[in-house]
Amino acid sequence: MLSTVAINIFNLLKEKTLPKVVITTHHKPDADAMGSSMGLHHFLKQIGIDSKVISPTDFANNLKWMPNSENVINFEESTDLCKAITDEADFIFCLDFNDLKRINEYGEVVSATKSIKILIDHHQHPIGFEDYSYWDDKASSTCELVYRFIHDIGLSDLINKSIASCLYTGILMDTGSFKYSNCSGQTHRIVAELIDAGANHIEIGDAVFDSFSEDRVRFIGYAISQKMEVFKDLNTALIVINDQELLKYNVTTGDTEGLVNYGLSIEGVKFAVLIIDRTKLVKMSFRSKGNFAANNFAKENFNGGGHFHAAGGSSDLSLEDTVKKFKTILYNYKEDLNV
Ligand code: 5GP
Ligand code: MN
Repeated sequence: MLSTVAINIFNLLKEKTLPKVVITTHHKPDADAMGSSMGLHHFLKQIGIDSKVISPTDFANNLKWMPNSENVINFEESTDLCKAITDEADFIFCLDFNDLKRINEYGEVVSATKSIKILIDHHQHPIGFEDYSYWDDKASSTCELVYRFIHDIGLSDLINKSIASCLYTGILMDTGSFKYSNCSGQTHRIVAELIDAGANHIEIGDAVFDSFSEDRVRFIGYAISQKMEVFKDLNTALIVINDQELLKYNVTTGDTEGLVNYGLSIEGVKFAVLIIDRTKLVKMSFRSKGNFAANNFAKENFNGGGHFHAAGGSSDLSLEDTVKKFKTILYNYKEDLNV
């Protein structure tokens, strides 16, 4: 029972005087990663526990309105500070990932500490590095799980505007604005509670969807009109972006979020793919509809994983060779893509 896990974790936190708590999440944290981390951070504050949020990398500008997010420590920028804080931690909450590879080099630091590691996550196939696991792959988002964790320990009354706003944002984004199959009646009931507790859906919608730079909007237009290939016989849409294009449009962290979904909005398309040359690595995003498993495709071919309908992976080949490899492999899935 997950509620027993929540109660056990809460008791451990209470037993310790002034516990040192770190909250971390996956690299390039998205809305669910940041929302769950900041939501938990504000909840711990409500129960008198100070916590430090460490991100393996920077995060998108459209999430910087989250209260206290200016105090998030970036491991890439402040490596020594993060190491010192992590080494001293009694508890490390690991949110929205279940494989230490997802937090880059910070994974070695986390794994080397004696701290109690608590996982809160909704991705399939956890590798099991944690001591306590509050995990449910049926949950819409990690933000939903943080809400359920607070509910399980009987403290939902402590949910204030900051907590509610952060958690609402992650649920909003991870359900594709309440459209995806991971969104249930329970998700809506939780969202209703969060709105009652102070989450302002108009302000949040404006902050996350309507606060981009002009460059970003032009970049999306360019990517769709000039760079999208549609393979009708395979019900697949592909966008490939090279490093020059990222520079030309001043693409910053978070700017490519959502781009992959446009392919899926074409009638008949069941599989949408975005391949981006991130210099160190070629990064891939996969989205699917119906019974095509994006996470299996990512796992089988590109060292990745994720959810059934939303997954990611990477390749250390050149951009050109990655695209060639992708196109060759895609034909092996012809039958699955035509169901
Ligand atoms: P995105 O395409 O937005 O980067 O990621 C979509 C989903 O796939 C997210 O749930 C994310 O956690 C997961 N994901 C993205 N990249 C990887 C990866 O390299 N490995 C694994 N295991 N999951 C990934
Ligand atoms: Mn998530």
